[in-house]
Amino acid sequence: MTVATATKHWARERIVPAEVDRYLPADGDFIPDDEIHRLLTLTAEPDAAETRAILAKARAIETLTLSELATLMRVRDPELWAEMRAAAGDIKRKVYDNRIVTFAPLYCSSKCVNNCLYCGLRSSNSAVERRVLTQDDVRAETEALAGKLGHKRLVVVYGEHPESDVHYMAETIHTVYSVKVPVRKGWGQIRRVNVNAAPMSIAELSLLRESGLGTFQVFQETYDRRAYARLHPAGTIKSDFRWRLTAMHRAQEAGIDDNGIGVLYGLSDWRFELLGQQAHALEMERFCGIGPHTMSFPRLEPAVNTPFAEASRWRVSDADFERLVVLARLAVPYAGLIITARESPEMRRRLLPLGVTQMDAASNIGVGAYVDGQEKQKSSRQQFILGDPRGLDECIREWAAAGCITSFCTAGYRCGRTGKCIMDLLRSGAEGKFCKLNAILTFKEWLDDFGTPETQAVGAELLQRELDEVRQQQPAIWPTFQQHYQRIVAGERDLYF
Ligand code: SAM
Ligand code: SF4
Repeated sequence: MTVATATKHWARERIVPAEVDRYLPADGDFIPDDEIHRLLTLTAEPDAAETRAILAKARAIETLTLSELATLMRVRDPELWAEMRAAAGDIKRKVYDNRIVTFAPLYCSSKCVNNCLYCGLRSSNSAVERRVLTQDDVRAETEALAGKLGHKRLVVVYGEHPESDVHYMAETIHTVYSVKVPVRKGWGQIRRVNVNAAPMSIAELSLLRESGLGTFQVFQETYDRRAYARLHPAGTIKSDFRWRLTAMHRAQEAGIDDNGIGVLYGLSDWRFELLGQQAHALEMERFCGIGPHTMSFPRLEPAVNTPFAEASRWRVSDADFERLVVLARLAVPYAGLIITARESPEMRRRLLPLGVTQMDAASNIGVGAYVDGQEKQKSSRQQFILGDPRGLDECIREWAAAGCITSFCTAGYRCGRTGKCIMDLLRSGAEGKFCKLNAILTFKEWLDDFGTPETQAVGAELLQRELDEVRQQQPAIWPTFQQHYQRIVAGERDLYF
């Protein structure tokens, strides 16, 4: 059998129909298109009382219904919008305090059997160099990420291809976790590996779970099924809307309970997408009582030899993007919100106070690009082109100056605080207390091991304020916490609550 035939054969076997049908009715799914279209035809602007009642529900960390979210979308009054923005920031602080979690993407392979019109890695794009990292390559990339940059959390990303199947994924995750690099005072190490990959079967996801992943992310890309069909050519695995729509159900069944969803904004009307995503979040809650751990907001970026990415009529303006982030924050108040370096530094600055909880930094999306530094700007090696090329030190300094502590905390899944447990803790505001402690410890580690003197100075001021807050607000835990902090100062690493 030739490689091409073997690849086709592999692709044909990917979808397990029984693992779609058991979650969906034969004649439909849980995205109520007609209802969403109906809600979008309503034009009456809600009055202040109605708007504030919905905001009160969001402030109580309750998920909004489709109708409530659609009502907030119709608010035009600038004063009410100011209240909505303020509520988004308040909810973020209530659930996550002033923490911002950071991570970096690690692209392990750029081979893909799919042909998504918007993506630089699509199979028909001959302008892209293809590469699948060997385990030695993965080790070298991890050494650069954990040893030079100081990252503790990664999202590993794969094209859908037999050379990067679930066995390869599991091996790469083991390799990433095995790397330990001596640095200034302690050591560099990746402590949480999240995965962004194509939907898989329950058996494959069980294998993935055993590798010790953090969050499993699959973005639906678009909830508009007509756009979906146009953008994902028939005959490709990804053309199966329902297989993708049930990815999170299968993950839950396989025991992966931190799951991330997302929309690629710019493929269809953003208002439809946001409501579609809300229907997905509500379905996840209905199915297993656990909504999305994270929601991602990739916005369509240019990619080499990919005209669609620049020509789409649905590209989302900065003003609308800001609105939709506020709306999403209000709609699923407990979920982590991820804004990646696809966005420019200015845009990320604008979005930070509106409820964002995670941002990547020092990101490189070329396969092998953390080692081949000079190659990092080469578009022929990337899925798309990034908007924020800044390093981690600069980002951390900026976030600290804005009053946000960068957290490298990875305690949650290692202490069993995942799925329903973490959701309940987040909803009640209790998780914020653990996280504050772990944020301080990991921030101090990073400053000592990797920070420039300039960032250490800005960070020290922030740390002092944070330490004072713990001493005053958590007196019971303060003595133990202080001991942990001193041990970190002395060079011990990876202590957590
Ligand atoms: N190949 C897997 C899949 O598609 O499910 C793994 C993830 S893919 C490498 C990562 C994500 O990048 C996609 O889900 C899509 O949302 C996003 N993406 C693709 N093309 C993009 C573009 N031109 N601009 C911004 N994001 C893009
Ligand atoms: Fe492949 Fe994912 Fe790109 Fe589609 S978005 S072509 S599945 S890498």
